[in-house]
Amino acid sequence: MRSFRMRTHVVLFLFCLVLSWAGAAHAGTAEPGKVLFILLDGCRADTFNRLCDQGRTPTLAWLRDHGLAVDHAVSVWPSTTGPAYAPFICGTYPFQSNLTGIRQYLRSSGTYRSYCGTDVKKITDDLSRDYPTVFELLPRDSLALVAMLDRGARRNFNPPLDYFLKNMRGKYIECDLAIHRKLEKELGKGLPRFTFVSFHGPDAVGHRTGTDGAAYDEAVINLDGIVAKLIAWLKAHGELERTTIVISADHGSQSTSKSGDLAPVLSAMGLKVRDAIGRSTFGYNFDKKGHAEENDVIVCVSGNACVQLYLKGRPDASLEGMPSFRVRPTLAEMRQYRRGSDAREIGDVIGALLAQPCVGFLAVRDGRARYRVLSGSGEAVITREGDRLGYKVVSGTDPLQMGVPARKVSDGRLVQERKWLRMTCLDPYPDAVFQISQLLEAENSGDIIVNAAPGYEPWHEGQKGVHGGLDAAQIKVPLVLWGRGVPPGRLPCARTVDLYVTMLKLMQVAPPPGLLGIPLF
Ligand SMILES: [Zn+2]
Repeated sequence: MRSFRMRTHVVLFLFCLVLSWAGAAHAGTAEPGKVLFILLDGCRADTFNRLCDQGRTPTLAWLRDHGLAVDHAVSVWPSTTGPAYAPFICGTYPFQSNLTGIRQYLRSSGTYRSYCGTDVKKITDDLSRDYPTVFELLPRDSLALVAMLDRGARRNFNPPLDYFLKNMRGKYIECDLAIHRKLEKELGKGLPRFTFVSFHGPDAVGHRTGTDGAAYDEAVINLDGIVAKLIAWLKAHGELERTTIVISADHGSQSTSKSGDLAPVLSAMGLKVRDAIGRSTFGYNFDKKGHAEENDVIVCVSGNACVQLYLKGRPDASLEGMPSFRVRPTLAEMRQYRRGSDAREIGDVIGALLAQPCVGFLAVRDGRARYRVLSGSGEAVITREGDRLGYKVVSGTDPLQMGVPARKVSDGRLVQERKWLRMTCLDPYPDAVFQISQLLEAENSGDIIVNAAPGYEPWHEGQKGVHGGLDAAQIKVPLVLWGRGVPPGRLPCARTVDLYVTMLKLMQVAPPPGLLGIPLF
């Protein structure tokens, strides 16, 4: 009886929404609109669509089916919190945002960052100033709740300590409900032109239990209820017709049952390794010069399926002089690595990593505008000329396991980068050709980037679910817009950077120069 009553309420509510939508669609675009951006952190695209299709998330389904939805929306590599927020807040890829992982090593200053720990507040300082945040573009009219990159927001809120304590006790649904209460309290002071709010239930549950059980579904279903309440709030306060609601996620998640660890493999070769620092970088950065001198390799883990390895290179080929993290080693040097001032031979670092079951594939630079993808069973080369990319398998089987459309042009010919997205959006590693090239071009990306094998955590935290990788479950996200100024329909594919320029268009804000996103309409 109770569930019948609930269903009746949902149906009535959605009927009201139909009437409101009719008004919203005819609101015109004379006045700049408002945008309410709701980030479902860690929500897989396929879970989102399954729950919508099963009728278990009726509000999200309604928004998807009556608004503009992207069938295959792709985030960025690494698909991890922080770097994958930047597309929504600055419209940038990692190579533009200066954020290449939730942990990263800043080559120029020799500083180690762990944004999921002691450096959480430093992420806004490290975020490139070449591209303004949406909050900086709307300095008097923006609200950021748990936005991580909230530089320039008129009002911002980040969770207090008890939120993290609740999270550690596994009370994720309670945490999201608390964020919702805080949001409604802030909205009570007025709905700004741009509001960003993120809810972390799906991400937290994914890491703790994986994505295959009821708990992960429940975290998304809980957010459906929150979105329904937010729409009701907008309607009750006369804001619905002026507002576009945007739903997306920074990444998905993939269950793991097996683990590996790369630092011991490198140590066993005779390398001095600084492993990913769990949460605190105080110790490292207190003596960063000493640590940079002492170590040969720095390991930075994101999500935890993406591992970036920073390896010292040599300033010249004569093997004289001290190797340094400021110099990137060549692929040939990594294949026959020598460490220290005496250039003692260590061996094939690439080969040692590829022998690990937890390694899916590696991505490395291979000269200028050329990148190599290596798995245990094959190698491919990516070449770049401007906005065109070529892909060719040079030995063994295709490490990116491309489907027929992309395979037909995988002979090294140069193809416009957006075409790679369209051709690979159904593949196991969607958009990989572009995503690999953009990440390897980033100033602070690792010299070797590891994409974990499916089902593996390539580190030792014992997580049951991971993200950070290029795998479809991790990099594909929901992307839905509904409300003022949005033409209903379906788009086959897009990237999350496209959402940024679309939102600026809806708010009638001129996009800053240099952005590569394409408006969705
Ligand atoms: Zn996240």
